Amino acid sequence: MRLKHVLVICFVVLSALPLLLSFGMLQSYTGSQYRIQIEDKLTAISQLAKLRLTAAIARIEDNTTLLANRSLLGRQLAEYAETQEYRLFEQVEHSLHEAKQGMQQIVDISVFAGNGQFMASINRISTSFDRSLLGEHKRVIFLRHSQELIVRSIVVIEHEYKPVGYMVIDFSGAFILNLVSDRTGLGETGEWLFAVRDDNGDALFAVPLRYDPGAAFLRRVSADRTDVPITQALLGQEIVMGHAPDYRNEEVMASTRYIQDMDFGLVAKIDEREVTDIINDANKYLIVLGVVLVILAVAVGVMIASLIARPVEQLRKSTQKVIEGDFDVEPIDAGWREAKDLAASFEEMADSIHDLKDNLEQKVEERTRDLDEANRRLTEISVRDPLTGVHNRRHITERLDEEFSRAQRYNGRLAVAMFDIDHFKKVNDTLGHGAGDEVLIGLAFSVEHSLRTSDLFGRVGGEEFCIIIPEAERSGTVYLLERVRREIEALPFNFDGKDLTVTCSFGVAFLSEEMLTSMSFLECADKALYRAKQTGRNKVVVYNDMDEASPDGA
Ligand code: GH3
Ligand code: MG
Ligand code: MG
Repeated sequence: MRLKHVLVICFVVLSALPLLLSFGMLQSYTGSQYRIQIEDKLTAISQLAKLRLTAAIARIEDNTTLLANRSLLGRQLAEYAETQEYRLFEQVEHSLHEAKQGMQQIVDISVFAGNGQFMASINRISTSFDRSLLGEHKRVIFLRHSQELIVRSIVVIEHEYKPVGYMVIDFSGAFILNLVSDRTGLGETGEWLFAVRDDNGDALFAVPLRYDPGAAFLRRVSADRTDVPITQALLGQEIVMGHAPDYRNEEVMASTRYIQDMDFGLVAKIDEREVTDIINDANKYLIVLGVVLVILAVAVGVMIASLIARPVEQLRKSTQKVIEGDFDVEPIDAGWREAKDLAASFEEMADSIHDLKDNLEQKVEERTRDLDEANRRLTEISVRDPLTGVHNRRHITERLDEEFSRAQRYNGRLAVAMFDIDHFKKVNDTLGHGAGDEVLIGLAFSVEHSLRTSDLFGRVGGEEFCIIIPEAERSGTVYLLERVRREIEALPFNFDGKDLTVTCSFGVAFLSEEMLTSMSFLECADKALYRAKQTGRNKVVVYNDMDEASPDGA
């Protein structure tokens, strides 16, 4: 794995991971905060509704008291109690119509005599009543008349502080229906629940329900279902319940209210599904923000990682180049100080390695040149005669072997000549060995410079010399040797004031079929030289012209 990748992973782990974790925490925190907000809202709405209902019912009670305390009605009832005259029924009924004037929300008023006997009514909704309803807490009840919700209030009619009869007043429950049909603040799924307690103690819904419009005074929730919010409301609990089942068994968030005086329960609720949706919606922005921040963190991480990794990567590439022998490394643009220092040191190192390499190459070149020169000189020495500087015997015989083979292979021409200084012993004897050496040196020098470069010349014995002549043409060769002979003859030597000249005898052989080896070829030249010595010296004898029957004889 590359350094850059390691760094990127480190940065992501160090920056993005904590960011993600804190976002997760923030999200759950905001989730719970949103939940609390929704709960608070439900609590506020239900409390407000409770206050409004309480106030509305208080007004009904006031009106009831006002009606019941009409002195005329009291007197009429007191009179009936005494006289039992039925005409009073009509008078009471008349009084009721009068009393109802201007009280739109009253559906019906009925009056009963002190003994419970029905006397008069406006709409005759109730012609009897349950006296037990006269208890402290049940002065107002809710019930249904045809399709209408009725709020019934029962009061005692007094005359001169003595009870003389009863009044039953039915108010329209429209204000309650209006209240529960207004679902402002309850979202898409929320609703109001309004229930009274039935004879069994169960919760009996008194208004149509959102998901069951025919529920009023028909649908109930058993009192033992304490997990249901409306039951809790009727139990007098004013709480917020989460994830509680409602009448449909759907999970809801609910705020419960209980109105003790009138014994009814009120619930404001909203489906948990919607609560979750609201929280998720709110969190969506948070998630988007989180994702953007994480991407940003990763991008910054990658950038920083690249910044750190780039010079290291460049350094690696440059090192590789240097290893491969390419010293043309690009400068490393490091962003941080340590990398800058490292880059500078590296460039210095690369330069010095470069110089070292150059120096080494130069030295090796020089040494090679010296060695070649020494070799050349050594070779030269090995093929030269130390006294005269011309080729030595070994070289001459080697070259003769080569020339002999080549000439034979290509059917070429070749001549070999031998010559020997005449009476050389005398020179040594009379002028000394040193003078003899001088003669040898001077003679060899002269002959070598007189020959063509294609001819090979060397000293093969004490005062014996050899010339190899490739592509030798007969008359030209004899002419050449004659010229050499004359030049030797003309060489002027002088030792201690005494002039000296020397002569040489020459024997030459031209290659022919009888000469089977280079040695026998040379022997032929030698034989011719011998013949030259025998026949007067200072001459050139051609072996091929000799009489073979008596080579040594003549
Ligand atoms: P010839 O005409 O028959 O050749 O007579 P010669 O005196 O030259 O006889 P020979 O060839 O037998 O003698 C050769 C002499 O050359 C013998 C030796 O003293 C002399 N010599 C051989 N090598 C050297 C040398 O390197 N230096 C000197 N100064 N003399 C040498
Ligand atoms: Mg000799
Ligand atoms: Mg000699």
